[in-house]
Amino acid sequence: MTDPTSPTTPDVDVVCVGAGFSGLYAAYKAAEQGWTFAGFETAPDVGGTWHWNTYPGARCDVESIYYSYSFSEELQQEWTWSERFAPQAEILSYINHVADRFDLRRHFRFNSRVAAARWLPDEHLWEVTLDSGETRRGRYLLAGSGGLSTPKNFDVPGLENFTGLTVSTSRWNISLDDLAGKRVAVIGTGSSGVQCIPLIAEVAEHLTVFQRTPNYVLPARNAPLSADVVDEIKSNYPAIREECWYSPGGIPDRPATDRALDVSEEERRRRYEQAYERSGFLGVGAEFSDLLTDPKANETAAEFVREKIRQTVEDPKTAALLEPRFPLGAKRSCFGTGYYETFNRPNVSLVSLRDEPITTMTSDSIIIGSDSYAVDAIVLAIGFDAFTGPLFALNVTTPEAGTLQQAWADGVRTYLGIMTAGFPNFFMIAGPQSPALASNVVVTIEQAVDWIADLIAHAKAKGGDVIEPTTEAQEDWVKITEATVNQTLYATTDSWYRGSNVTGKPTTFLGYVGGVGRYRRMCAEIGRRGYPGVRIGGQAVAPTIGRIDREIA
Ligand code: NAP
Repeated sequence: MTDPTSPTTPDVDVVCVGAGFSGLYAAYKAAEQGWTFAGFETAPDVGGTWHWNTYPGARCDVESIYYSYSFSEELQQEWTWSERFAPQAEILSYINHVADRFDLRRHFRFNSRVAAARWLPDEHLWEVTLDSGETRRGRYLLAGSGGLSTPKNFDVPGLENFTGLTVSTSRWNISLDDLAGKRVAVIGTGSSGVQCIPLIAEVAEHLTVFQRTPNYVLPARNAPLSADVVDEIKSNYPAIREECWYSPGGIPDRPATDRALDVSEEERRRRYEQAYERSGFLGVGAEFSDLLTDPKANETAAEFVREKIRQTVEDPKTAALLEPRFPLGAKRSCFGTGYYETFNRPNVSLVSLRDEPITTMTSDSIIIGSDSYAVDAIVLAIGFDAFTGPLFALNVTTPEAGTLQQAWADGVRTYLGIMTAGFPNFFMIAGPQSPALASNVVVTIEQAVDWIADLIAHAKAKGGDVIEPTTEAQEDWVKITEATVNQTLYATTDSWYRGSNVTGKPTTFLGYVGGVGRYRRMCAEIGRRGYPGVRIGGQAVAPTIGRIDREIA
């Protein structure tokens, strides 16, 4: 047990992992509070996910005007997005601009991976060890390491036999030209695969897409932002941000109040057409209130999208293979540009792995049963070890709880997706069981950093330098996240949302799906009541959060 009376002076107040959206805002916030800050980033520069995911076609599926910081009016006035969904390079330029504009780079050391972090209970400090062997001590440890930053292991059988070019979307290190004139395989048809497939098809001699589970690909309807639209956004930013903060998904999507099964088929179709035309359906719950809770209602929308697939893809057999069979939106839908049309090209073919997986590979071929596909290059778009992957990689340890892996052996347990019992002064920005998974993550990041900063300031004012959630409050939050997701169709479908994409990973749902607005009100109320469920300097305030959740409902 931590001794609440014997603090030692740390090297810095805050040690932070990562220089993406989370770490940069944490550095800004720490400077604002007058706290010393040391950030460590594996990459040679800022950007996080937008530094690494440079594959062709990479862009955000949240509109850029919303997928951006709200903390500075000057910043949002001076930065102009060129497209509705900005490409990776533009998002990275924006992040670089923020780092320069607020002089944040000086708080970080790049090319420095945090290899381990251990809590020193007698000194009330975290000691982090870098991959260089150097150590650094901070009072508070912030994980801004991202939810989708650790690539999944290359669990494709026989990959080690293949001697051609292999590249992963999440660590893209070639140019699109390197695939020109080649026989290319893309394995994986999630958001990353869906974005790069049309562009690879344009340069490859032949592209074979290896698809295990077809996903819903909705037309992104990306377009340049006109000067008028930009002006209107800039003159309304405060209201737009406010709407995002209190919305279900961190974008201005008001929850629908009527149900799909209560309106006529004609009305449903009209609404679905409208949503499809404006690239809707990503926040599927915004179209009708029952789409994410009632399988029959969902089927009406799912079938509408399948019909679009059949209308677009000329070969009926290929179209049938591309039709998803799980509820629309129950795992992250993809935003695509010309995705289904790509399968009409003569140089593109689709191989379904649904009934027969890849058997093995040879030096130049992918083998499935008795079939062999000769390829020169393999693009792996197989996803991430979401949320727990990046956190476990930090090798966070406390004498009381052991490692995070041990503490979460049966599944993730957190307090608001921000803290976890047994790990004092350890804060996860947009962590598992926060709304990060099903929201515009920048909204969740800013809110989490603000909340963490307020909590630390509150603790400092009380003279308590050790902050830790109680197990009781944590169990309340776990129950709330489970009860919330169990009312939805998210609970029914395997994906990275549930950890089921990684062999051996416990399948617990990795997010809170009650909406960013409700979560924000809940966190604010917890702050107002003196942080119930959090032990500060050994003292905890009752009641725990289950009651607050019921009160704000
Ligand atoms: P993903 O959604 O997990 O998709 C991975 C794909 O690879 C799936 O089709 C999966 O099939 C397949 N796969 C995995 N292992 C395989 C194996 N051993 N053999 C054959 N196929 C295999 O990963 P992602 O596409 O990188 O996207 C992850 C998340 O990142 C997205 O959901 C999104 O939140 C975010 N993202 C967003 C954007 C954007 O903003 N537009 C772009 C990229 C990523 P199964 O489904 O059968 O497992």
